[in-house]
Amino acid sequence: MSAEFPHTVHVAVHTPMHSAVGEPLSYACAQALEPGTLVRVPLGARELLGVVWDAPSSPEPQTFELRPIAGVLEGIAPMNPAWRRLVRFAARYYQRSLGEIAVTALPPQLRDMTAAQLARRLQPPKTVKKTRSSTAALAQACAPAQPPLALSTEQAQVFARIQAEPGPFLLYGSTGSGKTEVYLQAVEQTLAADPQAQALVMVPEINLTPQLEQRFRQRFVPLYGEAAVVSMHSGMTQPQRLKSWLAAHAGRARIVLGTRMAVFASLPGLALIVVDEEHDASYKQQEGARYSARDLAIWRARDAGAKIILGSATPSLESWHASRPPDSTDPQGGRYLRLLMPSRIGAATLPQVRVVHMGQQPRKTVFSAALIAALTERVQRGEQSLVLLNRRGFAPVLFCSDCGYKSDCPHCSAHQVFHKADRTLRCHHCGFTQRVPRTCPGCGNPDILPLGKGTEQLEEELARLLRNVQRPDREPARVARIDADTTRAKGSLEQQLAQVHSGDVDVLVGTQMVAKGHDFRRITLVAAVDPDNALFSSDYRAPERLFCLLMQAAGRAGRDALYVQARSSRPEMWIQTHDPDHPVYAALREHDYPAFAAQQLGERRDAGMPPFAYQALVRADARSQESAQGFLRAAQEAARAAGLPHLDQVFLYPPIPLSIQRVANVERAQMLIESASRPALQHFLRAWQAHLHWLRSQPEHKSLVRWLIDVDPLAI
Ligand code: ADP
Ligand code: ZN
Repeated sequence: MSAEFPHTVHVAVHTPMHSAVGEPLSYACAQALEPGTLVRVPLGARELLGVVWDAPSSPEPQTFELRPIAGVLEGIAPMNPAWRRLVRFAARYYQRSLGEIAVTALPPQLRDMTAAQLARRLQPPKTVKKTRSSTAALAQACAPAQPPLALSTEQAQVFARIQAEPGPFLLYGSTGSGKTEVYLQAVEQTLAADPQAQALVMVPEINLTPQLEQRFRQRFVPLYGEAAVVSMHSGMTQPQRLKSWLAAHAGRARIVLGTRMAVFASLPGLALIVVDEEHDASYKQQEGARYSARDLAIWRARDAGAKIILGSATPSLESWHASRPPDSTDPQGGRYLRLLMPSRIGAATLPQVRVVHMGQQPRKTVFSAALIAALTERVQRGEQSLVLLNRRGFAPVLFCSDCGYKSDCPHCSAHQVFHKADRTLRCHHCGFTQRVPRTCPGCGNPDILPLGKGTEQLEEELARLLRNVQRPDREPARVARIDADTTRAKGSLEQQLAQVHSGDVDVLVGTQMVAKGHDFRRITLVAAVDPDNALFSSDYRAPERLFCLLMQAAGRAGRDALYVQARSSRPEMWIQTHDPDHPVYAALREHDYPAFAAQQLGERRDAGMPPFAYQALVRADARSQESAQGFLRAAQEAARAAGLPHLDQVFLYPPIPLSIQRVANVERAQMLIESASRPALQHFLRAWQAHLHWLRSQPEHKSLVRWLIDVDPLAI
């Protein structure tokens, strides 16, 4: 140990090379540093951001000279123990290195900033700015505060339970039942009770943040000032993200609104977490550390002694099961408290569900005559409709009936989708794009045909079918489309949604992007034209996902009771299907989530599937399917040969190819690991990791591109 650097510090850094190690690295330092301090450290020729970690309980003997740290990020208070516990837990649970979780949980800009740049950023705002912000504050103070609404009876009952009980709460409330108002008042009450308190409010998708942000700003900026409400999501610029993060870390921000990444925000005063639309799949990160922000939020709330509210009209089966009330066979009940808000605000009714049996329609019907008639009526009355199809592009494939050619992607086991607007064939998996061929590349036939329908085609077809229909103002009907293709440019989604809200659009065609969350006021009809596709999936969660999507979509219709009453039209949800008796549609007809959940949970219990069992996937990507599966088989053998702990409680399924087996010329395989015991699965995976790292380094697995573990996978 050198005299100049007498102290040893342990630093969590993120480097793929050390992911096998996973534990903090040791450095020398001139002064002792508090755990949680942000530092820059040398690694090889590079300099990286790191977090000083607690000393290991049994330090390894030091056999070589330690390198000194490169510097401390002055001016940022150390990350507190609660944040470090969260990071430690997430790393262990999701089988990642501590450094990866710790560093990716910090704003990306901190990684690249020099100490000098950071110091500039942390400087107090210049005086000019100060005056401006204080005038803004003054203006805000004069702005009429948005008062809390008088709660409905159901809202008031739920709110009282939230105040009285510890939770965690599952707020099961219909679409339009006023869940957001409950969140707002719970946040308000929490912040008023303690001047240090902070609230974290999570939403599944960036495109839902603007509306929510507006509602929270209107309510809280007049109370706590402009700086009190900040957002965190990937649609923000790096400097904006850093600014929000610093405000939360310093306790200045009282409310943090964000997507899944916000679960890792530094919140020293965390007192309340809200997870809106808790069932939504986007809470699960699908690359790198595959964490579930909802599940981490539950853990974090318990660890921090904060309250947590999960809200949904269609809860995940996991949360539904975890909130089961006690009964004679199950006197304990679940760990969560279930709260109900079945009614919509203002006596708005849920839409009537109309199922059209497509088997009884003329062949190749896209829109049944009855649906077109219903759409026509709505346009003529000046009401809006939403047509939902979860498939963008014009047609999913181009096809030659002479030689059988299909527009397959050369790099993936998938078709290239035909996009008519820009005459391209595009692969939605790898992005490979080509001009549409004039003639069949197989046989030269000039007649290659689009097969199947996407949103582009629906938009075109609807515009044609409704071309002679007039709105009350005698203008022709306007059809518009919102999907990932129309909203690539920044701000374009907001702009297109604003057009819908303003009444410019009569019929909106869209993917799931518009089916969720939005508070449309004038939509009275929603139609799912071809939902059956989703049921052909081999994934056991497919029915749950479809049911959710359709319930959410139905929830966009008839949200404004007064609007609906004034027109004496009943809101409707239309389903066109070849399988009208499927349990998903049967439950949907009755808006009966509890019945659907009971049926699905019964099946899951009988089959020993989540939430009655715990799962993980190990995936391998390689140049050939054979080597991908070979790696997985070797991993199984290694686990057995080494006699890993809990092998008797863990079931290893044989490796299989993924349903889309090849993407961008990489072959993908996976195997499922299942156990009735979560701790057993966790211990087993932890012990197994070292073997997987070791196997990866062996010459016979040279062609492996990557492997990964997905704990609690959402898609199988
Ligand atoms: P959810 O989040 O359950 O779908 P929202 O919170 O968006 O429902 O509420 C639906 C609509 O009802 C919103 O326009 C909201 O402003 C309004 N609303 C909610 N609670 C009340 C209330 N207590 N009184 C009047 N209007 C309310
Ligand atoms: Zn491709």
